Amino acid sequence: MDLKQYVTIVQDWPKPGIVFKDITTLMDNGAAYKYATDQIVEYARDKNIDLVVGPEARGFIIGCPVAYSLEVGFAPVRKEGKLPRETIKVEYGLEYGKDVLTIHKDAIKPGQRVLITDDLLATGGTIEATIKLVEQLGGIVAGIAFLIELTDLDGKDKLDGYDVLTLMSF
Ligand code: 5GP
Repeated sequence: MDLKQYVTIVQDWPKPGIVFKDITTLMDNGAAYKYATDQIVEYARDKNIDLVVGPEARGFIIGCPVAYSLEVGFAPVRKEGKLPRETIKVEYGLEYGKDVLTIHKDAIKPGQRVLITDDLLATGGTIEATIKLVEQLGGIVAGIAFLIELTDLDGKDKLDGYDVLTLMSF
């Protein structure tokens, strides 16, 4: 299946000059969403995954059906102040300023094999911060899966040495 036909390109959103890849038109097509999910499940199948971890919010959309299919749990990575119990946090750079991602301190047990999911790899800042959270808790990043990679931004350079799957490149 050619998944790219289900991604909608939105010019100048959320601000002028940005060409946004809208995946909602992939998600709301049952066959395309299932196909994309199945591709990631196949990739992860032989990796002995114990847990799927994804950053809010689109990392949940990709990661939860994959976790269900692999019959493992899902742990959310969220912006500061969103998780109710004790968390650890990592700061990461945005184009302008900084943001913070957090995970519950007891979400991962040391030695657990983790699959990280998100919809899109751009600069890699979000996923780099997510990797740090997983590794600080003693998790092993056994794979990282995205629907989309924006190749111009060289986000993959930040993922050197990790096992990465991307289903589409733009
Ligand atoms: P990065 O941290 O790699 O620069 O940016 C990736 C994060 O920003 C992902 O969590 C992703 O959801 C979001 N993002 C950035 N650009 C786009 C885009 O064009 N489409 C979508 N769907 N998400 C984007």
